[in-house]
Amino acid sequence: MVAPHPDDEVLGCGGLIARQRSRGIDVLVVAVTDGDAAFGCADPRLACVRRREQVAACAELGVHPGALLRLGLPDGAVAEHESAVTTAVGELLCDGDLVVAPWTRDHHCDHEAVGRAVARLAVGHGVRRPVQQVGSLVWGPLRSAPPDDGELPLLALRLRPDEQRRRLAALDRHRSQHGDAGRPAVITDDLVRSFRNPTERYVTLAPVAPVAPVAPVAPDTVAR
Ligand SMILES: [Zn+2]
Repeated sequence: MVAPHPDDEVLGCGGLIARQRSRGIDVLVVAVTDGDAAFGCADPRLACVRRREQVAACAELGVHPGALLRLGLPDGAVAEHESAVTTAVGELLCDGDLVVAPWTRDHHCDHEAVGRAVARLAVGHGVRRPVQQVGSLVWGPLRSAPPDDGELPLLALRLRPDEQRRRLAALDRHRSQHGDAGRPAVITDDLVRSFRNPTERYVTLAPVAPVAPVAPVAPDTVAR
């Protein structure tokens, strides 16, 4: 999973990560930035806080700290480093890997930049092997998501109670984004309420490359 900021791994696909880990499947989280400019200017103290929060959130989802890789790119300026994201992620890939990143129209410049950078992987740009990839609707449910009209494949992953519990616990680990310590809330009450719906939605970012099927999501849990 390629997370533009700490918390996107939960907001975008926390349930999917929990499911994969419970099935014994390795999950690598690539943290593109430390999210240090969440409230304006870059703040190194906030970066420390958010790195710790992300480690704790990943632990809730079953991801060991050793499977959390940081790129350290500047928060708010990922678009200036898209090729670095493509290269870094491409070098990590193995045959048939599933790559999850934010939707390319996800209402945040860093999210969209990461989406574009990852979309290039599907057409073989800078990678050794083809990959499967999907986008995740990080902000789509609260802002605007693509219509489910068949034009753009929209997948729904229905979470089991244990998966739902783990992603809610992971979301809670990102305390700096909940409006604590006098900061504005990024993870708002509305967002937390939307999380009570135990469904994650995904779009396909680009045509799936011709690789052997890897069944990242059990077929009986995916519906259009
Ligand atoms: Zn983000």
